[in-house]
Amino acid sequence: MFSGLLVCAGCGGNLNYHFNQKNASIEYFNCANNNRTRKTCDKTHYICVDFLEQVVLGEIRRLTRFACKYEDQFVKAVIGQSQKNAETECALKVES
Ligand SMILES: [Zn+2]
Repeated sequence: MFSGLLVCAGCGGNLNYHFNQKNASIEYFNCANNNRTRKTCDKTHYICVDFLEQVVLGEIRRLTRFACKYEDQFVKAVIGQSQKNAETECALKVES
C-alpha cells in the first residue's frame, strides 16, 4: 500500500519494503541507500508497517472529524485542490 510513496528523511532516497525472514508478519520499510551494497546514507531510517498504518489511520480519523465538523470548508478545500491539480495537468500538457 505504501510502496513508492515513502522517502528517507536523511537522503531523500526511496524506502524499500521488507519483511522479517523468520516472521513474515513483521513488515517494514528502510532506506534503499543504507544496506550492505550501498552505504551512501548513514541514517538507519526504518519504519514498521504496523506503526505507519496507525499513523495514517489516525490522520484519516482526524480528517474525517474535520470534514464532519466543517463540511462546507472541507468541500471547498477539496474542490480547490482538484481544480488546482487539473490546471497543473493542463499546463503540463500544453508545455510538452
Ligand atoms: Zn537515507
